Amino acid sequence: MARIIDGKEISRVVREQVAAEVTALKERGIETGLAVIIVGDDPASKLYVSNKKKACESCGIKSFEYALPESTSQEELIALVRQLNGDKRVNGILVQLPLPSHIDEQEVILAISPEKDVDSFHPVNVGRIMLGDYSFLPCTPAGVMELLARSGIEVEGKNCVVIGRSNIVGKPMAMLLLHKNGTVTICHSRTRNLADVTRRADILVVAVGRAGFVTADMVKEGAVVIDVGMNRKPDGKFCGDVDFDNVKDKASFITPVPGGVGPMTIAMLMKNTLTAAKLQNGIK
Ligand code: NAP
Repeated sequence: MARIIDGKEISRVVREQVAAEVTALKERGIETGLAVIIVGDDPASKLYVSNKKKACESCGIKSFEYALPESTSQEELIALVRQLNGDKRVNGILVQLPLPSHIDEQEVILAISPEKDVDSFHPVNVGRIMLGDYSFLPCTPAGVMELLARSGIEVEGKNCVVIGRSNIVGKPMAMLLLHKNGTVTICHSRTRNLADVTRRADILVVAVGRAGFVTADMVKEGAVVIDVGMNRKPDGKFCGDVDFDNVKDKASFITPVPGGVGPMTIAMLMKNTLTAAKLQNGIK
């Protein structure tokens, strides 16, 4: 039976540490602020934004919310981003994705100053992740690394398999594991004999977006299984990409959904906002 990695508890500890540093900055007269922009009224996006706002409050970070109507033009959105780039109260800017289809997401991301890009989606920050020389880490993969580290799981020399190659999760995840000297394989929808590859994994990270995609026969005995998936079930509850009930009997460590990677993503956003505030004030 695997040890369940408690992302809720680990994220609480991370947020507590961020809050302590935010307070220390305040004592030096430095406020930490995060601007969150949401366009339209997608219920899932609204929920994410409200969770981010709550996390800011719990860390003592000032949040500035900009809820724009669905009809907002790309030019208007970019004008707001540019205004926030120059706003000293704002250390981090987050544009909640996805954006309505008439707006080019990449153009909006490009408009965010790399120093305030706390999601780490700007090509400059993506490049820095490639080089292994970065200030901001992409929140979800960084959250996974934090879960591994705080659970005492060594990456060096391990066979790490990442299923999924998105720009937000799979690719940066693979880079972070590589920087920790893992031997990394990235799988995707064209991978042949996927189960043969995943069965070789000491650490298996799953970011596919399909409920119950990874079954027990795809997992090596004693593997560490990290489930990034967030799939909404017909009853409205969330489940992961891993068949948790069966895989937990084979794995040595496993993350649940909910309560695994999800809470870590927001905790790492808080950490990135703190890092941004420190960098913008010349503090290491
Ligand atoms: P995405 O952009 O849709 O990428 C999914 C990846 O899965 C793609 O690379 C795709 O391969 C691969 N894939 C699809 N079918 C496959 C198959 N049959 N075999 C092997 N690979 C397959 O999704 P994402 O944004 O990375 O997100 C993945 C999941 O993580 C979603 O459930 C999302 O909700 C969740 N998520 C959670 C958090 C969190 O905070 N917990 C944050 C972000 C995302 P191709 O590239 O070949 O199409």
